[in-house]
Parts: sequence; C-alpha cells; structure tokens
Amino acid sequence: MKPAGRASGIGTSIFTEISALAVAHGAVNLGQGFPDFPAPAFIKEAARRAIADDRNQYAPAAGLPRLRAALAARWERLHGAPADADEVTVASGATELLHDAVLAVVDPGDEVVVFEPTYDAYVPDVLMAGGVARPVALRPPHWTWDSAELARAFGPRTRAVILNTPHNPTGKMFSRAELEELAALARAHDAVVISDEVYSELTFDGAAHVPIATLPGMRERTITIDSMGKTFSVTGWKVGWAIAPPPLTQALRAVHQFVTFTNAVPFQEALADGLAEAESNGYFQELRADYTKRRDRLALVLKEAGLPPLPASGTYFLLADPAPFGFADDVEFCKHLCTGIGVAAIPTSVFHLDPASAPKLARFCFAKRDETLDAAAVRLKKLRARH
Ligand code: PMP
Ligand code: GLN
Repeated sequence: MKPAGRASGIGTSIFTEISALAVAHGAVNLGQGFPDFPAPAFIKEAARRAIADDRNQYAPAAGLPRLRAALAARWERLHGAPADADEVTVASGATELLHDAVLAVVDPGDEVVVFEPTYDAYVPDVLMAGGVARPVALRPPHWTWDSAELARAFGPRTRAVILNTPHNPTGKMFSRAELEELAALARAHDAVVISDEVYSELTFDGAAHVPIATLPGMRERTITIDSMGKTFSVTGWKVGWAIAPPPLTQALRAVHQFVTFTNAVPFQEALADGLAEAESNGYFQELRADYTKRRDRLALVLKEAGLPPLPASGTYFLLADPAPFGFADDVEFCKHLCTGIGVAAIPTSVFHLDPASAPKLARFCFAKRDETLDAAAVRLKKLRARH
C-alpha cells in the first residue's frame, strides 16, 4: 500500500522517540512534558462524580454549554475582554484544535508564518492543509526575532501566523511590544493569528501573560487555544478549547465536527467544576508558586551538573547548552544522556525546518517530583566524571 504524500512525509514525534528510549534504558524522564505527580484532588473528584452520575453520552459538538460559558466568563474576568460561550469550542486537547484551526483557515498554497523553534505539531498541520510554512528565527538568549526578517516573512500569500506564548521549548513569554509588532503585520496582511497559549497559567516571576487577541483590532482575527492538560496536571485527559470570533469559530467547528465531533464528557464536566473550584481555592496562585520552586530546583541541578540553563519565565521547560561537554550536536547529546547517563531530555534543533543551522540546546522538563529531579541530579553528576 502506498501511503498518501501528506502521511509519508511525517516522521515519529521526538517526544515518542525519546520516551521510548527512556523506557528502554530506565532513564529518569525529563523529556516529554508531563507531570509525574498527582493531579489535584478536586479535579479527580469532579471526574469521578461525572462518571457516577452517568454523564456518558455525547456532548454537543462544540462542547458542554456550561463548560463553554465558564471558559468565556474566566476569559472575561482575566482579560477584561468580552467573550461569549458561542465563541468557545471544546475539543480533544490543543493538538486537535491546532489541526482544526489550520484546516479551517489555510488553503493549499497559502503561507503560514511560524517561529523557530516551533512546537512539533505546527509544521505538519500546515503541510497537511497543503500550506507552506514560513519560518522566522527566535534567537537566544532572549529568543527575539529580527524585525526585518519577520516583516519579510509576510507577503501576499500569508494567511496565518502560529504563535505560542508562553513558548515551548524556550520558556519565553512574548512582551506586549513584541505582540504589537506582530499584530500590526497580521492586520496589514489580513492574516489570522492562531495563538497557542496552553502554558497561560504557568508563568513565573510576575511575568504577565498577554493574549494577542486582547490587543486592538486582534480579537476579530485570532483563534486562542488553551488546554487543561498543563493547568490541572492531566495531560492524558485531552480537553482543550479555542476562543475565536463567530466567523472563525464557525469554520473551526465545521472541521472539528468531522475530526472528533466531540470529546470525553466526564472530563469536560470535571473542567467545568474544576475551574469554579480553582478560582475559589487559590489553586492558580499555588500552581505558579509550586512550579517556580520546581523550576528553581531543576535550574540548580543543571547548574551543578555543568549545564547552566537559559532564563525561562513560563512553561515547564528549561534549556541548556551541551557544548561545554564537547557535544556540538544536541541530538547526539540527548541520545548519550539517555543511554549513557540515564536522563532523558529533548533535543530542540529538531524543532527547526533546518536543524543544521539551529541552536543546539537540550530541553529539560521540571514538571516532576522533587525525588525525580534529585534522581536526575545524581545521574547528571556522571557527566562531569566522564568528560
Ligand atoms: N501546544 C504546545 C506548545 C504544547 O506544549 C502542547 C503539549 N504539551 C500542546 C500544544 C498539546 O496540548 P494537548 O495535550 O492539550 O493536546
Ligand atoms: N507537549 C509535550 C511536550 O512538549 C508533548 C506532547 C506530545 O507528546 N505530543 O513535551
């Protein structure tokens, strides 16, 4: 059987590859981003309640009305920008919504601006829609773009931009000034912004998360995507949502209804209850304080191992340069780290269309128990001994 071109051009995700390698070598897994500690009791209780109450049948395709209303109300409270339940679409995680959003706005031949390093799903989503990805480099250590390069990436075929803030894998949060520059280009070229904000609640040091949809003239051209996976430490529950103005929502829902139609109802119910509970019990503040400690703990572990990390103000990842250990290549370093040292990390050059010219940095996830980070610390000490 000859597979379609769109399928045969797509390889196995780096997260799957490194997780398999981590299992095979018994490595401490700081690779794929997922928490290894329990989810909050109130969200698990809410899911159990929904199952006990026989909430077993299909939800409306756009998502449970009470969940959509709760998400719209939270957006209004957080950002002071009006949102309506009719502008919210619930689907099977941010991954599905990214795919739906790209299919909803990109025609074959259309160009989509993406920032490198790009989260691994974006370029395949663009390719599956028949679009062309136009990469713009973010350069370390502050992951800024070159304004002239950004402006050159926009042209008559530009249909969309995929933004991610806070940004995986760099931990960068785009400033209001940067977002304004991007927004001006999007408006000038009549482009849609697909803004992946799945780490919106994982921000540190008081850094303010600015959704690009809240900038002047952007609400009508932005699809904002978020997910409960990171916020509630339940990456396997796969409930995400998009907020977009009615014409974009209509297109998004048209695609979503024939991709999954709807997703797990007990987890949608749990998110609706969980949001209300989290807002009243201080959960979001605690989450940030807790992750700040984890980030600082991993930063210390890496520093002591001879891998001082780059600064990060959001997400649950830190980046480090393996060059001091004589590794010019991050893929080679991460393979050695996993198989020889026993710690799994993600090479980030693979998040570039041209890995050869990319910064060669390794990404470490700190959504881990103290014991896990300490076990990684013990193993990472072997790095110095061997090199
Ligand atoms: N976007 C980014 C930037 C991510 O890091 C992830 C995964 N962790 C996703 C999307 C996918 O989110 P979900 O698990 O809700 O599909
Ligand atoms: N988003 C997760 C990460 O960046 C991975 C999710 C996945 O494996 N698709 O590690």
